[in-house]
Formats: sequence, C-alpha cells, structure tokens
Amino acid sequence: MANSKYEYVRSFEQPDILLSNTWIVVRIDGRGFSKLTTKYKFVKPNDRDALDLMNEAAEAVMRELPDLVIAYGNSDEYSFVFHKDCMLFERRASKLTTTIVSTFTSYYVFLWSKYFPQKPLTPPLPSFDGRAVCYPSDSNLRDYMSWRQVDCHINNLYNTTFWTLVQQGSMGPQQAEQRLSGTVSADKNEILFKEFGINYNNEPECFKKGTILYRDFFPVNVPQSNPTTATNATEDPIFAQPRPTRTHSKPLSQANDLTVPRLQESP
Ligand code: ATP
Ligand code: ATP
Ligand code: MG
Ligand code: MG
Ligand code: MG
Ligand code: MG
Repeated sequence: MANSKYEYVRSFEQPDILLSNTWIVVRIDGRGFSKLTTKYKFVKPNDRDALDLMNEAAEAVMRELPDLVIAYGNSDEYSFVFHKDCMLFERRASKLTTTIVSTFTSYYVFLWSKYFPQKPLTPPLPSFDGRAVCYPSDSNLRDYMSWRQVDCHINNLYNTTFWTLVQQGSMGPQQAEQRLSGTVSADKNEILFKEFGINYNNEPECFKKGTILYRDFFPVNVPQSNPTTATNATEDPIFAQPRPTRTHSKPLSQANDLTVPRLQESP
C-alpha cells in the first residue's frame, strides 16, 4: 500500500519515543476492581488467590518480555521496569504500554479459572489501564519503588483495621470509616492490638509489602572483582549491571522486600 493516496494519514501519528538511557516503568492498574472484588466476593482485605493470580500473570509478562528486569505489585496494580538500554519497539511508549497491558490482561483472564474454579468470569471482563514513565537515575527508580511500597503499606494498614472493625468489631462500613478518620498509623496499630489482639507486624509479608519479581542472573561479561567502572561508579551496583539475556538468565524469583539482593555473585 506504499504511496497510495491514503498514505498521508500516517503523518497524523504523534511520535512517542521515550528518552534514551532512562529506566522505563510501565504501571498497570485494574479497572474498577472495587466493583470486581465485590462481584466475585474477594476475601477482604486481602484475597490471597487474587494476589497469586496477579503475581502469576506478572511472571508470564516477564517471561515474554526479556527486556524487563524487575516488577513490583500490590493490590490490583503492577509496575514493570524495562532496562535503561532497552530498545524494544524503538522505546515507543504506546507500543511498550499496550503490549504489557494486553499480555498481562490475557494471562489474568487465562489463569483466572486456576485460582477461582468455582467463580467463572462473566462480562464485563477484567481489564487494566497502563502508563509509561521514564526515570533517569537509579535513585529515582528506587524512590519510585519505595513510593509504590509505601502506598501498599498505608492502604493495607487502613484496610486491615477497617475490615477488622467491620468483621470482628461488628461495625457498619460508615461507622468504621468514621472511627478511622483522622487517625495516624500508630492509632491503627493500637486499635488492632488493644481491641482485637492483632499485631500488625505479624500480618503476611506480601500483604504488608507487596511482591517483587526479579531476574536472577549471572552477569557473565563483568568481572565480579571489579564490578563498577569509572562511568557507573556512582550508580547503584545492582542497577549498573548489564541487562540479562535469555542465554544466561535464571528462572524468575519472587520476594516481598525491596532490600533483597537481586543479583547472584558469579560462580
Ligand atoms: P480504578 O479503575 O480507578 O483503578 P478501582 O476500583 O480499581 O478503580 P483502585 O484504587 O485501583 O480502584 O483500588 C483497587 C481495589 O481493589 C481496592 O479497593 C482494593 O482493596 C481491591 N483489591 C485489589 N486486590 C485485592 C485483593 N487481592 N483482595 C481484596 N481486595 C483487593
Ligand atoms: P508485529 O508484532 O510487528 O505487528 P506481526 O507478525 O504481527 O508483527 P503484522 O504486520 O501485524 O506483523 O502482520 C500480521 C500477520 O498476521 C500478517 O502476516 C497477516 O497476514 C497475518 N494474519 C493476520 N490475520 C490473519 C488472518 N485472519 N488469517 C491469516 N493470516 C492473518
Ligand atoms: Mg486507577
Ligand atoms: Mg484499580
Ligand atoms: Mg489500584
Ligand atoms: Mg502485528
């Protein structure tokens, strides 16, 4: 169809190539999951099967896109990080975002029956939105991850206290909301402990902190005795490693704490 009289319409397309040499984070989020969790009667505040389903769909996305180095998820959201030197789709934002969103959604729907065999999906089906953001420095990327993890913590402490008041304190949702309005973290911890004997610290790690998927690999081209060079000496050594490739990447690993070591030492 080259040079047809219609060809000019291509010039209406806007370029969306993302800045070179920056970490690209694509964050997806479930659309209207407050409704969806009610429709399928998710266990509140945390349905373990629903979280496992999110994690398995995210793992599938990482397997299909080897340029992804790390992913972090909680609730109905997941953040996927492309390596700084990623050139997939010429770094076009719309291509990267839509590929992640559609791959994730396909696996989420495909795997649904494994986690909810008694609850077949009916329309409207689960869907996700997505956006791509560039982070220029390693510390910006770390802060991004910390931002999402703090969000998880704040929401989970609130939700845990709220649902404890409703489920064990026989309060109505409005009453529980009123009780929590104006409270700080220490107040919520105290309500849980003094009134219900719940030590928030003992809640499962994946509820409190979310889940991290990372590619565990041996950076074969970099001598481990001298892992930083003059140009990247100021960077975080974890992020300064070359991108893993299929040939020497190990299976994906899962963790709940962003401080876990993400690289194995070379043997
Ligand atoms: P939007 O379309 O704007 O994202 P939303 O209803 O999805 O709207 P979110 O802010 O994304 O709003 O909130 C997600 C909702 O889904 C929260 O209420 C959260 O508690 C709930 N949720 C997500 N995952 C789980 C889970 N595993 N178990 C129980 N509830 C969950
Ligand atoms: P990219 O990821 O870059 O889009 P692609 O392999 O999907 O790569 P396209 O240019 O999108 O490349 O081409 C789609 C291919 O799928 C074509 O080869 C087309 O002939 C084939 N195809 C699509 N739909 C059908 C169909 N219904 N029957 C037979 N072949 C099809
Ligand atoms: Mg949203
Ligand atoms: Mg949502
Ligand atoms: Mg959300
Ligand atoms: Mg195609």
